[in-house]
Amino acid sequence: MSPRLPPNCSDETRLIHAGKVKGDLARTVGPPIQKGSTVLLPNAAALYDDANYLTYGRGGLSAQIALQDALGELEGAAGVTLYPSGIAAISGALLALLKAGDEVLVVDNVYKPVRRFCDNVLRRFGVGVNYFDPRIAPEELVSSAAPATRLILMETPGSLSFEMQDMARVADLARARGILTAADNTWGAGLLFRPLAHGLDLSIQALTKYVGGHSDVFMGSVAANDPALVRRLADGINHMGWAVSGEDAYAMLRGLRTLPLRLEKQGANGLAVAAWLQDQPEVASMYHPALPGCPGYDLWARDFSGACGLFGFTLKPAPQAAVDAFLDALQVFGLGFSWGGFESLAIWCDPQLKARKTQRDYGGPLIRLHVGLEAPADLIADLRAGLDAYAKLAG
Ligand SMILES: *Cc1c(COP(=O)(O)O)cnc(C)c1O
Repeated sequence: MSPRLPPNCSDETRLIHAGKVKGDLARTVGPPIQKGSTVLLPNAAALYDDANYLTYGRGGLSAQIALQDALGELEGAAGVTLYPSGIAAISGALLALLKAGDEVLVVDNVYKPVRRFCDNVLRRFGVGVNYFDPRIAPEELVSSAAPATRLILMETPGSLSFEMQDMARVADLARARGILTAADNTWGAGLLFRPLAHGLDLSIQALTKYVGGHSDVFMGSVAANDPALVRRLADGINHMGWAVSGEDAYAMLRGLRTLPLRLEKQGANGLAVAAWLQDQPEVASMYHPALPGCPGYDLWARDFSGACGLFGFTLKPAPQAAVDAFLDALQVFGLGFSWGGFESLAIWCDPQLKARKTQRDYGGPLIRLHVGLEAPADLIADLRAGLDAYAKLAG
């Protein structure tokens, strides 16, 4: 029985108070998962003492706090805020930092649901949205900013077409004009590219992808160093009432432990598959920033410490039935829109490219591959079978 409960309490009272943790918890290598909306406070004075006591569970308890600390370490950040998905991290950052009358410059190759948020929500609240071609020079981009431009959102490489942008240079030029810069760094996963060390104000990630690493948890993060920005992001979460569960935070932290190992292996597997693909007669062009000769290779070599397993390539132009036959013949690669997990996936990208302001010719139907932890020889054999099926219908 709880030591504070009077003796002779009835059964229902005793059961409500039974089964509480006594004393300190045993120390495990992962954090305890605390489940709780209610946080019990030690005395009346603590009830409104938010500076010294955590007073409510929505902002996160042991596992969420441990994950924030660990992501701070990964990102080299003073503060990290957590969101229930990657898209919520991006929309959360934009909502926290922009107001009616402001303008935001968004890279045209941005993850498509971000465009949907900008067009349908930001514009409705009076924020101007302008999309820019990822291939324009940093000087041209920053000089195109209006007096109302408050933020530039980049995604390098773009996660379908893999354009590389000189984000460090954009950050430098933007800072001189008082404009904030943010990167959706899901490809870099906080490890292969370090936005904050390269002068960007915000590093955003869909943790759902590589940090989670097992294709089974949604979460997003925003990391920043300026305490005023960290405060505004945290306030934004509070205003919106977003929360992530302790179980999900625990799963993210478990993924984070093996992030460097998985990225190293998947990056190497991806490059092995890409190097093979580029010699196949059915392939028109490769879009892999870490493959020598591909667009953006020099920037990748300057700023990135490695590659992940996500890249694109185009097939030589052929009827749609041939492209479908390629995908349908794959047995090791799954067909699916996600990436960052341990498994290999493929999609055909062209329908998603139609939403863009800048239309360009990639040389044929654009395929995106996510290379997982399977043996590269098995992946290559699978792709060869797919290319054979394509060749039969390509004419
Ligand atoms: C998947 C993805 C997101 C969104 O993450 P969710 O957790 O699925 O909302 C954001 N940016 C990029 C580049 C992504 O690939």
